[in-house]
Amino acid sequence: MTPALHKFGIASLFLLATLTLSAGAQTPATSQEVDSAYPEAHALYLDLHQHPELSSHETQTAAKLANGLRGLGYDVTEHVGGTGIVALLKNGPGPTIMLRTELDALPVEEKTGLAYASKVHVKDDSGLEVPVMHACGHDLHMSALLGTAAIMAHSKDSWHGTLLLVGQPAEETISGAKKMLEDGFLQRFPRPDVAVALHVDNQAPAGKVQVTSGYHSASADSIRITIFGKGGHGAAPQFTIDPVVIAARTVIALQTIVSREVKPGEVAVVTVGYIHAGTKNNIIPDQVELGLTVRTYKPEVRKKVLAAITRITNAEAQAAGAPRAPSIESYESTDAVYNNPALASRLQSTLASALGADNVVVAEPLVASEDFAYFIGAGIPSFYFGLGGADPAKFAQAASTGEALPYNHSPLFAPDVEPALRTGISAEVAVLRNLLSSSPQDLHTLTQQPRQP
Ligand SMILES: [Zn+2]
Ligand SMILES: [Zn+2]
Repeated sequence: MTPALHKFGIASLFLLATLTLSAGAQTPATSQEVDSAYPEAHALYLDLHQHPELSSHETQTAAKLANGLRGLGYDVTEHVGGTGIVALLKNGPGPTIMLRTELDALPVEEKTGLAYASKVHVKDDSGLEVPVMHACGHDLHMSALLGTAAIMAHSKDSWHGTLLLVGQPAEETISGAKKMLEDGFLQRFPRPDVAVALHVDNQAPAGKVQVTSGYHSASADSIRITIFGKGGHGAAPQFTIDPVVIAARTVIALQTIVSREVKPGEVAVVTVGYIHAGTKNNIIPDQVELGLTVRTYKPEVRKKVLAAITRITNAEAQAAGAPRAPSIESYESTDAVYNNPALASRLQSTLASALGADNVVVAEPLVASEDFAYFIGAGIPSFYFGLGGADPAKFAQAASTGEALPYNHSPLFAPDVEPALRTGISAEVAVLRNLLSSSPQDLHTLTQQPRQP
């Protein structure tokens, strides 16, 4: 907690100390509690891992999770924003705390060789047959949430308030959180005072969690640009306006945004991931399509980068005498995930007492993205933390050789399930019990600290 304190002044320091004391009475999950919740959580993991479903098609997945939570006494609403679920457990007056998991898997062919590896193939939205795998670990998040839900339901004397569990669809297409909000999530259910989520990865060994204060992951914008020219014979360029040449110049010019327009030290990425044009070497096509991804942390940097993309793309087309202005379409976007610093500081201490200080790692922000940002954007102060998933022996070996372990979305991504799942459950229970020992007013006061610059 120390590094953040100097900003708040002496009066706030006393206030924070009081809040921390009032929040210090609750206990983390005992190993007996985790032992008793583990078999069902692990069984759900094995089931979900072998039956993954693509984004926005998580019907069986949502039904399994909904059934498990209903069996524990939660009041479950299904089909929120598509396949989303919301489960409530009310336990007297107190704050409303939200814990969120994603439901979806990815079009990846599993190559882990595990006995429970996915063999699922389905037709995707475009009719193409694709393999499906929980290559991002969302199956582990759902299983941890079920284990946590069981412990919380069986220990209602350890907390008070309302526990609100969210199974969110379509995280991988950064559309599910937005759809849940558009479907009245904040109007139909109690408004969360704080929202919490975790994500497993191989950046830390199983048994550890990773905490970041402030920006946790980047904003993302997916942009499709179509540059229009005038097609013709490859041997008679004088009768054409070559969109391939315009596209080439545009790609190079776009790379000057980060190097020349963004202040050194600020984080920004502009990647052109594909260029599609043409059919044959001696035909000048009449249009080119470019696909971009843009990542930043700060909203003002994002705004500047997006404006520069539009300006440069239009200007290059104009410079070449293009017959019409390019089409610039933003088809997926999410804000950065921002961890409320006072909340992160408090919950870092909570996690350290639950898991041991050595098992809480302070982590750098990621340039990956997450649509959990939509809940934060709706004004809910939040805490999003990392869950170590690597086999500790393999992690130590990889660290000594400098070799990277298979990352999320890899066909080889395979968390060390038992320790990661147990740690996920322990961490979630500790965080929820801490937050659900406060009053809504305390949490409001705590989370009203100004945003970091
Ligand atoms: Zn993912
Ligand atoms: Zn993920």
